Amino acid sequence: MPDYFALQGSVPEFNTPLPVGQLYFPSRERYKRALRKIFDRQYYTNQGPIVRELENRLEKLLGVKNVICVNNATIGLTITAEALELFGKVILPAFTFIASAQSLMWAGLQPVFCDIDRVTLQMDMKHLHSLIDQNVSAIMGVNLWGGACSPHVLEKMAKDYKVHLYFDSAHAFGCAVNGKMIGNFGEAEVFSFHATKILCATEGGCVCSNDDDLAMRIRNIRSSYGSGALIKVIKTANGRMSEAQAAIALMSLDDFPENQKHNAELYMTYKELLSSIAGLDLVEPSGVSFSNYQYVVCIIDEGQFGISRDLLLRVLRAENILVRRYFYPGLHRTTPFADNIPDKLKRLTNTDKVCESCMQLPVGALVSVEDVGRICKIISAAHNNAPDLFVQFGEEH
Ligand SMILES: *Cc1c(COP(=O)(O)O)cnc(C)c1O
Repeated sequence: MPDYFALQGSVPEFNTPLPVGQLYFPSRERYKRALRKIFDRQYYTNQGPIVRELENRLEKLLGVKNVICVNNATIGLTITAEALELFGKVILPAFTFIASAQSLMWAGLQPVFCDIDRVTLQMDMKHLHSLIDQNVSAIMGVNLWGGACSPHVLEKMAKDYKVHLYFDSAHAFGCAVNGKMIGNFGEAEVFSFHATKILCATEGGCVCSNDDDLAMRIRNIRSSYGSGALIKVIKTANGRMSEAQAAIALMSLDDFPENQKHNAELYMTYKELLSSIAGLDLVEPSGVSFSNYQYVVCIIDEGQFGISRDLLLRVLRAENILVRRYFYPGLHRTTPFADNIPDKLKRLTNTDKVCESCMQLPVGALVSVEDVGRICKIISAAHNNAPDLFVQFGEEH
């Protein structure tokens, strides 16, 4: 099949690039109506009525006592670490977005990286167990890929070791574990409402907690201008969410059930069309009774698939299918963390393997079932033509 692929010079499968993020947009009419209210009131920010409505609706939906909206998840994680008065080291997986670890840097804490399970891609409990020592003050669980990192097990571990426990749940809005909504585990959980996440505030996020005292400290560190009790805190962060962000988030929340269903349908379509391809494993959201299917990720076994993950990535990107390596590399190999890690912790076998073989596929509101069919056709063709592709491009870097 000469020149079948755009990488070989033929016309790309898609005219416009197909993104991997969620990218939700309400209709212009709804957007105008929502924004008009802000202009009528002439009130932009400082815990306005729209932010308050968003917090109330999230508290109800998640069944959590306190939701504190913030202007992004990273500041939410940083504020939570401050409010918990953590010290020394905090354990988190190396296989996560860099912001999880950067929030610790901003809070003056030292990240300690834990390996992951090869199948679930969530934190490896055995390895985590081995990393606990006197200088560890907390575990930051990261619920990845619309799945969960065994929050019940982590809760027991935190209690046994007397360390704090909170979660980066940026991938897990709307997910549940045995029917219990994510947002209710540990001392606090943080969601991101970034444009690429299933609940979109353009930029934004929230901290959830069932601990009223902790929530009050978080509110005061965030700075709230009049909402709730005033207590003394040492640092404040101006981490508030604006009315415009909250207005978008409310529309996104209204459409969450529809967007979740759409993602689930796309995931099922990928599953159906890719299951017979050797060397390609679709990652199932693990440990949850309900998933948002915010991400579709797969693992490429080069030996069986025929070409490497990196070459498949080039093939697909040339077709305007914007797949990406995510996460790459592991945080234990990223500046500045790599420089400060003792040699024995430099190799995280499973994280390293997964970082070399994991790929994120397009999903979300801008991707249709038909698009997924066309993506799978290209992936299938790449597998069938692997020997040719390897000869032509396999040696390039
Ligand atoms: C998106 C994301 C974040 C950061 O969220 P922001 O709202 O952009 O700060 C943190 N952790 C994970 C795992 C994420 O995916």
